[in-house]
Amino acid sequence: MNINGRTAVYGIIGNPVEHTMSPAIHNHISQALGIDSVYVPFRADGNLENIVKGLYSLGVRGINVTVPYKTDIMRELIGVDDVAGAVGAVNTLKYTEKGFYGYNTDVMGLERELESEGISLSGRRVVILGAGGAARAAAFMCISKSPATLTIVNRTRAKAEDIRASLLAYARDNNAGITEDAVSTMEPSDITGLPGSGYIVFQCTKVGLYPDVDSCIINDEGFFEKTETGIDLIYKPETTLFMKRVMDSGGKAYNGLKMLVYQAVCSYEIWNGISVPENVAEDVYKILKGER
Ligand code: NAP
Repeated sequence: MNINGRTAVYGIIGNPVEHTMSPAIHNHISQALGIDSVYVPFRADGNLENIVKGLYSLGVRGINVTVPYKTDIMRELIGVDDVAGAVGAVNTLKYTEKGFYGYNTDVMGLERELESEGISLSGRRVVILGAGGAARAAAFMCISKSPATLTIVNRTRAKAEDIRASLLAYARDNNAGITEDAVSTMEPSDITGLPGSGYIVFQCTKVGLYPDVDSCIINDEGFFEKTETGIDLIYKPETTLFMKRVMDSGGKAYNGLKMLVYQAVCSYEIWNGISVPENVAEDVYKILKGER
């Protein structure tokens, strides 16, 4: 890496940011494509308005946003794209002449993970476990793929109901082919009552995240027998207990590492107006997996 007076600066803000893998991803892509840019972590603690103004006045070309700022930062932007507005969260800011503009590449990243694994949601029964920020992003991605049904399962049911209301409003405004009856909510303890089989399940809670590796949000064996495909958004550990249970019941399971790589790739593409070649994205994935 040869940093000079013209090197474009990008970064991630959050608190904490010490363990972020984003610099490794972005700097690898720049190096692979020969683009003169550098990506650094900024631990952001303090007044968000001042932080955003500071980054803008220093000419930082693009910013990723992580916990806990994905929603609060929206009021500091000149605008957000439709999906980020509907989700109510941004993770990518692009420098424009008038200020930073926001996007949500978590939604796009998960979509690209599904494409790369050959998973189609059209006409399928889908379950989202969780109702936090990641679950919201997953739910909005799903709704655009015309599933037959979408069930949001969360211990705090009111948060699942809130996502349901936002999804239905978005579906109405955008003529998405999903009806009110098709979107439902439940608590984890009611999961035994889920009808039918062949489910595609997105695990979007923090349960099972390192070091809590012996926990799983659902402990009902019958549910795993109904699960054909399980996608855990967690990528540490590489194989979560949720994934193990899906596989033990004969299903296919994936973790969230590809989503992480692709959300970064999508940010990179938005910032630079280019398409990152698939072999570069695959190299990044292998490096993060420790295979290269
Ligand atoms: P969040 O907004 O804090 O939401 C956490 C969710 O987990 C909520 O639904 C919460 O339920 C549930 N939960 C937490 N502890 C629980 C427990 N003990 N029992 C039952 N439910 C529990 O977090 P987030 O930002 O959505 O992140 C969720 C996960 O997704 C994290 O593990 C994160 O690492 C992962 N993620 C991955 C990617 C990726 O690129 N692969 C991107 C974003 C997030 P309540 O609502 O009831 O509190």
